[in-house]
Amino acid sequence: MATETQAVLGKMVVDTNPATGEVLAEIPCAGAEEVQAAVRRARAAQPAWQRLSVAKRITVLRKFQHSLRDRTREVAELICRESGKPTAEAIATEILVVLDAAEFCIRTAHRFMRDQPVPHGNLAMKSKRGVLAREPYGVIGIIAPWNYPFSTPAVETLAALAVGNAVVIKPSEFTPLAALELQKLMRLAGLDPDLLQVVVGEGLTGAALVESGIDKLIFTGSVATGKRVAEMAARRLLPVVLELGGKDPMIVLPDVDLDVATSGALWGGFMNAGQTCLSVERCYVHRSIYEAFLRMMIDKIGRLRVGNGLDSEVEMGPLIHARQLAVVEAHVDDAVRRGARLLAGGRRLIELGENFYAPTLLADVTPEMRVIREETFGPILPVAPFDTEQEAIDLANDSEFGLAASVWTRDRKRGEAIARQIKAGTVMINDMISCFGISEAPHGGFKQSGIGRTHGEMGMAEMVQVKYIDSDLLPNMKKVWWYGYGSQFQEQAQALVQALFGRGIVARLKGALLTSGSVRRKTRI
Ligand code: NAD
Repeated sequence: MATETQAVLGKMVVDTNPATGEVLAEIPCAGAEEVQAAVRRARAAQPAWQRLSVAKRITVLRKFQHSLRDRTREVAELICRESGKPTAEAIATEILVVLDAAEFCIRTAHRFMRDQPVPHGNLAMKSKRGVLAREPYGVIGIIAPWNYPFSTPAVETLAALAVGNAVVIKPSEFTPLAALELQKLMRLAGLDPDLLQVVVGEGLTGAALVESGIDKLIFTGSVATGKRVAEMAARRLLPVVLELGGKDPMIVLPDVDLDVATSGALWGGFMNAGQTCLSVERCYVHRSIYEAFLRMMIDKIGRLRVGNGLDSEVEMGPLIHARQLAVVEAHVDDAVRRGARLLAGGRRLIELGENFYAPTLLADVTPEMRVIREETFGPILPVAPFDTEQEAIDLANDSEFGLAASVWTRDRKRGEAIARQIKAGTVMINDMISCFGISEAPHGGFKQSGIGRTHGEMGMAEMVQVKYIDSDLLPNMKKVWWYGYGSQFQEQAQALVQALFGRGIVARLKGALLTSGSVRRKTRI
């Protein structure tokens, strides 16, 4: 631990606006000792928070929700400056999502935290009463990415706090201000500052959080980092939720309204400059409408307004940093070299700034291309034709990722039937990405896209440990299955098997009679 502290000593996170290069903040990286101290403070504050009634806890959430609502504009502009996404997008896909997630937690926490009876089917266990009690873990660690710098940690924090946990967040080194804003708003709402702390830093600070003695980790980020984090967590048997990358397919059937489907593909491929875990990263279009689809896409891409997201007319901003841009360029180059048709974009927009890349359309992409195999996370829409429904399903499933998918058709039943055959955590019919804004819906992936769920009641369930409490209602009676084994016991046990599982009513009644007749064994200890 001391070496890690030394490694980050003196290191700064330099937070810059990806659209302009302006330095927004320089914040020292937290070392292992600071992270541990934050977790210790959180642990000390948590029991009192857990003891509060749900009603008192959600009062804080309500105040937070109101102050976020009242500061929508300034928080959205902060997100825009830090991440590059258009302000309108920051409002729609971050602030609205968080306001609604708060509403969901406020509405759900009471019922969720109420003890849940567990009725016993087994006749032999009828003299007992069981309940499930839900208890917070204690301190939840959250490691977050830069692409949804506010909503990702906020939604998880709201669920964790509602059920009585304390939280320590390690935001992305590229977007720490959004998480610090979340912390500020929670403090304004009256939350004890020790119950939500933010430790700023790079990967080492994240690693220090994994090793700090937190009780559960909610990690959102790339598959590569997710695997490293899971290895570290396994050594401590630390429970983790992993929300990782995606390569979401969009299947366009021949009966669609082409205007609607192409507008959907445009938004799904290019919102947040394609840097959304749920972005459309592969588009499969039925051959009968393939060329018409491409023509319409070229036209619509040409009309997209790219620039600094602070300008309300702008629809697509820059990429987060030069490294992301280099990945995008490499994927496009690889695709073109292997025979894809470049129909739009395919170049940097240096005239706008260093991190801008033109919205790009690639046609005739094939399964071996990097743009189909790896997560691109940029403004690229790769499109390929298919002939049969089965071929489209096979293409969609031919990926190591399984976060989400979408099916486009006017025939809802057909769409839903296809959805059931796609290996992904979410499948939407005639929309994409917006599932992230449905607070009741669980969010998470199949295959390499992750483990566990955030959002909705399943996300809340990840924030609690379940305790089963069982009371015997006949405390003066020794149980028939306790010691006192012998031939009598054996007969009695056999009779019980017949009583419970005998073939037909006669066998069961006979078994029941024999069981009750032999309850009093002489040899009981
Ligand atoms: P990343 O994996 O590079 O970083 C994620 C976080 O992990 C950052 O805070 C980073 O500092 C931290 N980190 C890095 N090394 C670490 C280590 N060794 N130990 C602990 N923490 C460490 O991901 P990114 O580039 O910030 O985000 C983009 C990725 O996130 C994409 O793959 C995207 O698909 C994924 N993502 C997934 C979801 C989802 O819900 N499934 C949502 C958003 C983003």
